[in-house]
Amino acid sequence: MNNYLFFSKSEKVLRSSSSGGAFYHLAKALLNTGKAAIYGTELRRVNEHFENSISRIDNISDIHRIMRSKYVISTFDVKAISKMVLDDLSNKFKVMIAGTPCQLERFRLFISNLIKKDDWDNIFLVSVFCHGVPKKTFFDKYIDELNKKYKNDLVDNINFRYKKESWDDFCISIDFTSGKNIVERQSDNPYFTLFCENYLLLDSCFSCNFKNCQYFDFYLGDFWGITKIGCASNMNKLGNSIVFANTDKATQLINSLFNEQNECFLEHLNDFNYVEYCLKYNSAFLKSVCKPNDYDKISNIACKSIFKAYKTFKRYRLFNKIKTRLFKKR
Ligand SMILES: Cc1cc2nc3c(=O)[nH]c(=O)nc-3n(C[C@H](O)[C@H](O)[C@H](O)COP(=O)(O)OP(=O)(O)OC[C@H]3O[C@@H](n4cnc5c(N)ncnc54)[C@H](O)[C@@H]3O)c2cc1C
Ligand code: SF4
Repeated sequence: MNNYLFFSKSEKVLRSSSSGGAFYHLAKALLNTGKAAIYGTELRRVNEHFENSISRIDNISDIHRIMRSKYVISTFDVKAISKMVLDDLSNKFKVMIAGTPCQLERFRLFISNLIKKDDWDNIFLVSVFCHGVPKKTFFDKYIDELNKKYKNDLVDNINFRYKKESWDDFCISIDFTSGKNIVERQSDNPYFTLFCENYLLLDSCFSCNFKNCQYFDFYLGDFWGITKIGCASNMNKLGNSIVFANTDKATQLINSLFNEQNECFLEHLNDFNYVEYCLKYNSAFLKSVCKPNDYDKISNIACKSIFKAYKTFKRYRLFNKIKTRLFKKR
């Protein structure tokens, strides 16, 4: 496995990406090789709700639609996607598919029976490091509640990785159809807080079968801990990606970006011990998150109201803090 620190030199790309924009530049590099199609997750408003599903683009001007992490499960119709990919392959397109490891594995197993071994030379599977994804019902509930709270207005767009000053600002930006915009710190945002604290995740995320697996061509993550491992002098204020390139064709594609040094920065991390790194700073690649003890209680409330579940969570937290202090004093 080859490991890289990566970031875009374009402020626009960095602000549209969750981390350092590795996905954008890898997709662009593939599009530049000739005919190519890129598949990724697009969040779209449909009336007062949102759909989050896989879209296909074959032009760099459309890539903004499938950039940035959306913290809700995306619909992944493996039959329909495979059919589109088969069409692409027969039309001599190269294909890149980005998703969570469980989605990509479903795709890999399904399409393996339908393609020739050589076809894999033209397919790039790009996995994100995956903390887990929230169930769609929670996201729908949150949007419903926001629409009710801001009467006569509808949520038009939501950016869970708004980089106000820097990538580790942890802000959420919400646009409304009236043009109004609100920005909240992550810790003040009920949905994002409950997601990070693991109350909204699918059950399968607590015992994920795809940790520390190296099935796919690329793994992309946030380069948390960058300041601690000697790369700090090269870090970027608006986002840093860690990239694992796991196959020869993936290494070739990312190495082609060394020729694009006016557009992006990449550094090959020669002596990088990924296990040690992930254990310390970014465990999502290695192990599943833990189910909170009060998961059932809080997530049951969240089914009815995300705002109420957040209030209850904060109350429990405060209560536990006080209890721990009292016990310590004794
Ligand atoms: C649900 C989720 C949890 C994550 N958890 C972690 C984590 O714990 N630690 C970590 O280091 N990184 C995590 N990531 C990955 C990280 O947020 C970035 O997506 C990754 O570093 C790529 O960023 P980028 O700047 O290269 O490009 P970006 O443009 O930000 O790339 C985002 C990519 O993810 C795809 N995507 C977006 N939303 C979804 C979705 N809901 N389901 C499937 N694919 C999606 C997009 O199509 C795109 O390819 C997570 C991503 C997601 C979607
Ligand atoms: S944590 Fe595992 S099961 Fe959950 S979405 Fe990610 S890859 Fe899928």
